[in-house]
Amino acid sequence: MLDAIALGELLIDFATVDTDRDGYPTLAAHPGGAPGNFLAALHAYGCSGAMLGKVGADTFGDLLCATLAQAGIRTEGIVRDPSVFTTLAFVTFGPGGERAFSFARKPGADTQLRFDELDLSLLDEARLLHFGSLSLTQEPVRSATQQAVAYAAAHGKLLSFDPNLRLPLWPDADAAKTQILWGLRQADIVKISDDEVRFLWSCGPEEGAARLLADFGVRLAMVTCGPKGCLLQNAGAAVRVAAPRVLPVDTTGAGDIFGGSAVSRLLQLGRAPEALTEDELTAIGRFAATAASLSTQYPGGISAIVPEETVLRCMEG
Ligand code: ATP
Repeated sequence: MLDAIALGELLIDFATVDTDRDGYPTLAAHPGGAPGNFLAALHAYGCSGAMLGKVGADTFGDLLCATLAQAGIRTEGIVRDPSVFTTLAFVTFGPGGERAFSFARKPGADTQLRFDELDLSLLDEARLLHFGSLSLTQEPVRSATQQAVAYAAAHGKLLSFDPNLRLPLWPDADAAKTQILWGLRQADIVKISDDEVRFLWSCGPEEGAARLLADFGVRLAMVTCGPKGCLLQNAGAAVRVAAPRVLPVDTTGAGDIFGGSAVSRLLQLGRAPEALTEDELTAIGRFAATAASLSTQYPGGISAIVPEETVLRCMEG
C-alpha cells in the first residue's frame, strides 16, 4: 500500500550561486520539480510515495531518479525516454532577491508523458494523487494528467492540487487561469499561495480559501503567505498559523515542502479533510509551515528538507 502518488514535472533547477571572474553567473544544479519536492517531504515526515513522470535517458535523468530514490520515493513509474532531454529550469535572483524563472523545455521530457505510459497499478495502490499545473501546460502530458485524475477520482482516491503558477510556461495568463481553475474543480485538497489567489481572483487569502470551499467544492484549502505563514480552512473551521522566523537563503520548493508535510500529517491522522477539527487544522498548519520555513535556510528543494525531529524541536521552541 502506498500513501501517495505525485504526477508531473521532474527537472533540474539551475540556481545562480555566484559570478566568475568575467562576471558571468555560475550555476548549481539542483534536482527539482514540485511533485518530487512534495513527495520527498511527504516521505521525510512519515508517509510513502511514488512518482509518475518522464525524464530523458541522459545524465540529468539519472540524477533525478537517483535523488528521488535516495529520498525514499518509489521511482519505477518514471519513464526514461531516449528521444527527449530532461527538462532544465533556470532560477535567477533580482536585486531584491525576487526569483525569475526561465525554462529549456522545447519539448522537455516532462511534457512528453502519455497516459498509456502511466503505471496505473501504482495509482491503484495509493490513497491520494497529487498534481500541479505544469503538467497541464501542453500536450501530451495535459491529457495524461486529465485522464489520470479521472481514473483516480473513479477509484475513490483523494486528489491534491497545487497550482504552482509559472507564467513563462503558458501562452498567456488566460490559458494558465483556465487550466488552474480546472485543477481546482477536481481537487479535494488544495495548497495555493497568496500570490496565486491574487492572480486568480484579485483577492486576499481569506476570501480565496472561502471561494475554494464554496465555488470549487474543495474539502481542505491551504493558502500559504510566504514569511507570514498560512491559512487552513475546511467546512468546520478556519485557522491562521504564523511561520517561524528564519533567515532564508533560498525559498525554492518551500511551497511544495509545505504541501507534502501537510498532506503527510493529514494521511497519518486518517481523517476526512472536511472533518478535521480546529485543533487538527492548527497542528497540520504549524507542522507544515515550520517544515517549509526551516527548508528556506538551505539551498535547493529536496536537499533542503530538514528531519522531523528538527521540525518538532523548532515547534516546541
Ligand atoms: P514556492 O513557489 O517557492 O514553492 P509558494 O509560493 O508556493 O512557494 P510560499 O507561500 O512562498 O509558497 O511559502 C510556503 C511556506 O514556506 C510558507 O507558509 C512559510 O512557512 C515558508 N516560507 C516561505 N518563504 C519564507 C520566508 N521568507 N521566511 C520564512 N518562511 C518562509
